[in-house]
Amino acid sequence: MNYVERQRRVQAAMASEGLDGLVVVSAANLRYLTGFAGEGLLVLRDSACLITDGRFRLEGERAEAELVIAQNGVWAGLAELLAACKLRRLGFEADHTTVACADRLRAALGEVELVGVTGIVEGLRSCKDAEELAVLRRAVVVADAVLTDFLASDFEGMTERRAALAIHGAMLDLGADGPAFETIVAFGPGAAEPHHANTDTVISGPGVLLVDLGATVEGYRSDLTRTVFLGPPDETFRRLYSAVWEAQQRAIAAIRAGTSAREADEAARSFLAAQGLADYFSHGLGHGVGLEIHERPTLGPTRDEVLQAGQVVTVEPGLYLPGWGGVRIEDMVLVCDDGAEVLSAAPKLPPDAV
Ligand code: ZN
Ligand code: ZN
Repeated sequence: MNYVERQRRVQAAMASEGLDGLVVVSAANLRYLTGFAGEGLLVLRDSACLITDGRFRLEGERAEAELVIAQNGVWAGLAELLAACKLRRLGFEADHTTVACADRLRAALGEVELVGVTGIVEGLRSCKDAEELAVLRRAVVVADAVLTDFLASDFEGMTERRAALAIHGAMLDLGADGPAFETIVAFGPGAAEPHHANTDTVISGPGVLLVDLGATVEGYRSDLTRTVFLGPPDETFRRLYSAVWEAQQRAIAAIRAGTSAREADEAARSFLAAQGLADYFSHGLGHGVGLEIHERPTLGPTRDEVLQAGQVVTVEPGLYLPGWGGVRIEDMVLVCDDGAEVLSAAPKLPPDAV
């Protein structure tokens, strides 16, 4: 990964905001800028200085930055380092710095003007370069294989929790660092909760089964959902599944560089509204994925930002019916100048086959 180039781009953004320093605390941003995967702080000025403690010395030595091992905690180390610099205006990540830490910084730095900034590094992270895409594709391949294998396995009789554990193990077997987020295995009425917390419910048909999983490979994540019906599908499943399937196709067809996040969402939402189902689509269309499972851009009805080539987003319309269950289909796509490349390859039944 080209860490030095990324640091240069942040330094250019800092200059345009009149900052002569920036304190980066977000773990994903630290990793993006230096390759460091431990706990610490990065101080960007005309140089890059990583402050961590003895637990992360070896990781720190591999990172693309000067290394400082703080003896009394990273914030005390930061105050010491900055006291020796002549700074006028120092930025800190308002989205990731606690009020207590910002107060501490203020008390330690006296004369220096402290400015909370948002999104400088996250904005750069949203468009993936070729190396990032290669790693992301590996995370997608693991998710595809694990979900496909799971659905083909003899899972009936397992509890939701047990199934999630089996899925976790399958990811490790395929070389993933671990799950990208808490795997969702939702059977029956539990599938009516978009972020269902797995229970000891036994998976046993008839009923709807929704599985939402992702794998992490070298820090990069994937995200994939399939919904199936165990036993002969009821009328509700047929209706919801075909509506979600069509809504997803329309949204994918609408995605390209230059489309707004709202227009992509609208392509799915307007179709579901025309079916009288809009009230059951209770979340946005999708989200960016990369070093974090939810990152920029967010695709939703109030999001005006324009999609750019190189962004990787999920397309995941869903319909949720309390008491019955829910249907969601989620794939990851790469935003390109002339459309969307669907990265996920796990098979999904077309509506006429359910
Ligand atoms: Zn998901
Ligand atoms: Zn998702």
